[in-house]
Amino acid sequence: MQQILVLNSGSSSLKFQLFTMPEETVLCSGLIERIGSEDAKFKYKTNREKIRVVTPIPNHKVALEILAKQLLDPETGSIKSPEDIDVVAHRVVHGGKEFSETIEITKNVKDKIKALSPLAPLHNPANLEGINIAETIFKKAKQVAVFDTAFHQTIPEHVYKYALPNKFSDKIRLYGFHGTSHKYVSEKAIGLLGEKESKIITIHLGNGCSMSAIKNGVCIDHSLGFSPNAGLIMGTRSGDLDPTIIFYLAEKFNLNLKELNTLLQKESGMLGLTGHGDLREIEELAKEGDKACQLAIKMNTYRIKKYIGSYTAALNGLDAIVFTAGIGENSTIMRELICEDLDFLGIKLDIVKNNERLKTIRTISTPDSKIKVFVIPTNEELEIAKETYDLLVKE
Ligand code: ADP
Repeated sequence: MQQILVLNSGSSSLKFQLFTMPEETVLCSGLIERIGSEDAKFKYKTNREKIRVVTPIPNHKVALEILAKQLLDPETGSIKSPEDIDVVAHRVVHGGKEFSETIEITKNVKDKIKALSPLAPLHNPANLEGINIAETIFKKAKQVAVFDTAFHQTIPEHVYKYALPNKFSDKIRLYGFHGTSHKYVSEKAIGLLGEKESKIITIHLGNGCSMSAIKNGVCIDHSLGFSPNAGLIMGTRSGDLDPTIIFYLAEKFNLNLKELNTLLQKESGMLGLTGHGDLREIEELAKEGDKACQLAIKMNTYRIKKYIGSYTAALNGLDAIVFTAGIGENSTIMRELICEDLDFLGIKLDIVKNNERLKTIRTISTPDSKIKVFVIPTNEELEIAKETYDLLVKE
């Protein structure tokens, strides 16, 4: 039995979950938000209680110190001090082509994570800071890195390469993201299908959105690319664009690189189309007749449908589609529109099942649907804990 603390250290937030493995028991979990601002928030949850402390939290070091003091399980008393933590598992966004597997963190691993920072300037430095601080607080614990890009390292060269002059292809290629989520839900789907061979499309729809084509458990294509702004229309990101649009915007609207970056990452997608970034509001307004919201939903679901078509071709068939993350797990309308008019492929949605508001793994296709449609709640923290436990057992 091992106590594994999973940490997801972002630029202004810190998410955590403490697991006992292999039992997969969650001892406590929580979130520290708005680190560095006056109204930082600390939400902490155990089986029995929920504590919310609002206090100025100036930096990640203080955040992690506050967290370390709270890691007590009131029911079992199994964690008494940070020294009781066996392992700290860190989510690291970019592992480049260097990391295709979960790995114990050494000085060399940290140097490589740092060297990859230009590819993920918002994420890798924050992840690395979390690692450095955790090393000083959880002194006895092993530190492990689980990379968001790792699951996509199986994508073949003719898919990950861009058609640019070869001298650029050392660094510029499709890396993919959300890998932990795609891996977790695809493994569950493979379990549900119960077949040795499988062709699956996983659709992760949250604030960030992505799709993967997965053959026999191996990722062969993915909609995010060199950065997390490719493929689908997202909350605030544009997804696929003709690159020439960027030159046109620069020239005609006099936008510099920084402004263009902000435009494409933070002001586009559903927000740019409707003025709203949260799909729940957009759905409400669309229902009330708002034309911009109706169009944005149509554009969004059409693009997903297009990717289903192309991935079915890439897989040479399809056994199941999986919906996951905030939108995929909860939006009945999005799922309905995505699956609409795909009967030629053999996708038949059971409207009653699709409309059930459940939080569990479920099948929402009809019994005679050739292709199964699953809703599988993602659990990236648990997947990180599982991979970390597997690494330690292997050692
Ligand atoms: P993140 O990518 O930040 O982890 P989530 O996976 O939590 O995000 O997804 C956030 C998105 O899920 C938001 O756009 C939110 O509107 C959407 N969402 C959550 N619940 C619902 C719901 N019941 N219906 C429609 N959309 C929902």
